[in-house]
Amino acid sequence: MYCQVIVDIVHENVAQAFTYRVPEGMNLERGQRVRVPFRSGALEGIVLSLSETADFDPKRIRSVIGPLEDYPAILPAMMELAEEMAREAHCPLAETLRLMIPAQMRGGRVRVREEEWAELAVSPAEAQAALAGEGRSPKRREILRMLLEKSPRPVSEIRDRIQAPREALNVLADAGLIRITKQEQLRSPESVLGGGSADWLPLTPGQQEVMEEILPALKRGKGSFLLYGVTGSGKTEVFLNAVRKVLDMGKSALILVPEIALTPQMVSWFQSRFGAVAAVLHSRLSPGERYDEWRRIRRGEARVVIGARSAVFAPADRLGLIVVDEEHESTYYSDHHPRYDARDVALSRCKREGAVLILASATPSILSFARARRGDSVLLEMPVRVQDRPLPEVRLVDMRRELESGNRSVLSRELVSALGECLKKKEQAMLLINRRGYHSFVSCRACGHVIKCPNCDVSLTCHVEEGRAPGGGDAETLRCHYCGHRERIPSRCPSCGSPYIRYFGAGTQKVEDEVRKLFPGTETARMDIDTTSGKDGHAKILERFRSGAVRVLIGTQMIAKGLDFPKVTLVGIVAADLTLNLPDYRSRERTFQLLTQAAGRAGRGQQPGRVIIQTYRPEDPVLNMAAKQNYRAFFEEEFRRRRQALYPPFTVMMRLLAESRDAATAERTAGELEKRIREAMEVHPDWKKKVLLLSDEPPGVRMLRGMERRQILVKSLVGPETDALSALMAGLAEEPAEGCRILFEYNPTSMM
Ligand code: ADP
Ligand code: ZN
Ligand code: ZN
Repeated sequence: MYCQVIVDIVHENVAQAFTYRVPEGMNLERGQRVRVPFRSGALEGIVLSLSETADFDPKRIRSVIGPLEDYPAILPAMMELAEEMAREAHCPLAETLRLMIPAQMRGGRVRVREEEWAELAVSPAEAQAALAGEGRSPKRREILRMLLEKSPRPVSEIRDRIQAPREALNVLADAGLIRITKQEQLRSPESVLGGGSADWLPLTPGQQEVMEEILPALKRGKGSFLLYGVTGSGKTEVFLNAVRKVLDMGKSALILVPEIALTPQMVSWFQSRFGAVAAVLHSRLSPGERYDEWRRIRRGEARVVIGARSAVFAPADRLGLIVVDEEHESTYYSDHHPRYDARDVALSRCKREGAVLILASATPSILSFARARRGDSVLLEMPVRVQDRPLPEVRLVDMRRELESGNRSVLSRELVSALGECLKKKEQAMLLINRRGYHSFVSCRACGHVIKCPNCDVSLTCHVEEGRAPGGGDAETLRCHYCGHRERIPSRCPSCGSPYIRYFGAGTQKVEDEVRKLFPGTETARMDIDTTSGKDGHAKILERFRSGAVRVLIGTQMIAKGLDFPKVTLVGIVAADLTLNLPDYRSRERTFQLLTQAAGRAGRGQQPGRVIIQTYRPEDPVLNMAAKQNYRAFFEEEFRRRRQALYPPFTVMMRLLAESRDAATAERTAGELEKRIREAMEVHPDWKKKVLLLSDEPPGVRMLRGMERRQILVKSLVGPETDALSALMAGLAEEPAEGCRILFEYNPTSMM
């Protein structure tokens, strides 16, 4: 027997499979991890296929050293998925296979944690007899007594009562009185957020209708849905009911959530209903936890998996359902290395493995809604909130008027008075600033000079560090969010020398300070990258808010999504139009989604909610559609605009980024890349016909982390010719370039 093995080399992708001999008596399967000799050492690899014969001289074929596990780490369906993804993303199979197993498992960095257990190897009567005979050793007597009480028991329990029991244990084991075994111990992450209810709620009519469509599909093992339900319509309860059905059928389910911030709440819902069959996969798990959760899933002990993007690769066998919650989130797309869209991967898995796909959102992505309208998936609607609770009342406040009437604060009078009322009634509020510190840059009021990072072509953000100033006061520093560079705020403009240099606008910190000043004694919490970096950082803040200890939660867009806090009656959006102005064709869609989702956090409980959107452009149609929470109107307009301007989904955007320490090198490399693309287009006139734009305009951010960046941007119509062109561009990124790094991106999530 021979096998073909894809070896796992971390920094170098070996595209082809190598053939090895399978030694007599070794049973291997496709998808199994093996150790193989490679060059002068040994490597890990994955068995791609098995064959009776080999194409080479059998004498030159080396033998597999051995399997790493006695089961295939990658299930057959997942092997096919990896092959399909590699084909579509034009990348080596080793790269897509890597997605399927936890990084910690590769290279043997984490191991199974084992625990020792002791048990009686003889009958209790015999043990009693031995106990009587054990005159000399009190330790041995005590161990036998403990095991007569309870057997088997962990050696750690024995060690709690008896100091250094090792020798005594060995003597007893050698005498055949007890047995010491090793058992695997699983490190299971704990959920810190309460609030999930264990009770099954009677479904609302809206939920019932939707379930009537989903249940037959689950039975058939086939179907793809877009669940478009307004905020607070009770989508989670639909997921829970669908998962219950799937478990009853003996199958498993994957629930994808966009971000770690949302996971604790979703996890608490699922754990309170399903207990230990639920597993969590997210990036903040310790390597050991991650590996153990993976194995619990692989062995079928955990059959409900909740996690972010990469959880779509969870090794669930007998898959019955994949739910992608908040499907419009850009975090589901990984734009390079290897590129994939978790929604597409989910669809591919569902088709292949006979499972049902549910994409869900209150603001579906333009692409998913267009597909549902075309009939590629079934559109399910939940247009009203649970118990007919009203959608919140939304008001747009014109910040230009505030300034005219002398209010220089970041909070409008209307928001301040609403906040006062909310706090008086002992209710809770959320204040949202989109993009952390986005607007808190420092600029000169005399000449407009903006202070930028010396390593990156982005403005620095103002931060206050409590007690960090020399006298013990608060220090103000400027920081770069990309490279961590920090410097002091200058007292004079470095460009014109004017003293009128100060910082603008509203970071999360500024807003928090203002709220504390206006409402002394109010408990506030901030949720942004600064406050959530620790393990469980998000969960702890959210738990304090859920319990009511915190009354006002201030945060970036991470607080806008999916959270369900019934006591929140006021949502204030401090600066709504910031993201509208970003140079990206998706800015309008993202702004609409953000505002609608944020507004959706208000009034989810018994008390109706109120939303105040502060803006400098109250006439903007996107803001007005968001204020009315009119998704359909937004969709129609945006769809038309994309078709007219030829943006995705009607076209594909691709780019090659050249990054170098040296501007001239980046420039030259980009020029070289453009030349290669143009040459290929001369050879293939059919590709050329599809290409709408080929530009060498530098990217919005020309320098990042000290690297000069240049790009070649291609916009092309969708079609097989474009696939061929993208394969060529992906190939160019793999070619070595002197002093330069080349990245290929397909529909990049950010065009900066
Ligand atoms: P969505 O995800 O659609 O925004 P959620 O699933 O978070 O909405 O549900 C909104 C609120 O309604 C939650 O507090 C939830 O507990 C409650 N809820 C959901 N379904 C029911 C039901 N059938 N009966 C009573 N309350 C429900
Ligand atoms: Zn100046
Ligand atoms: Zn920087």
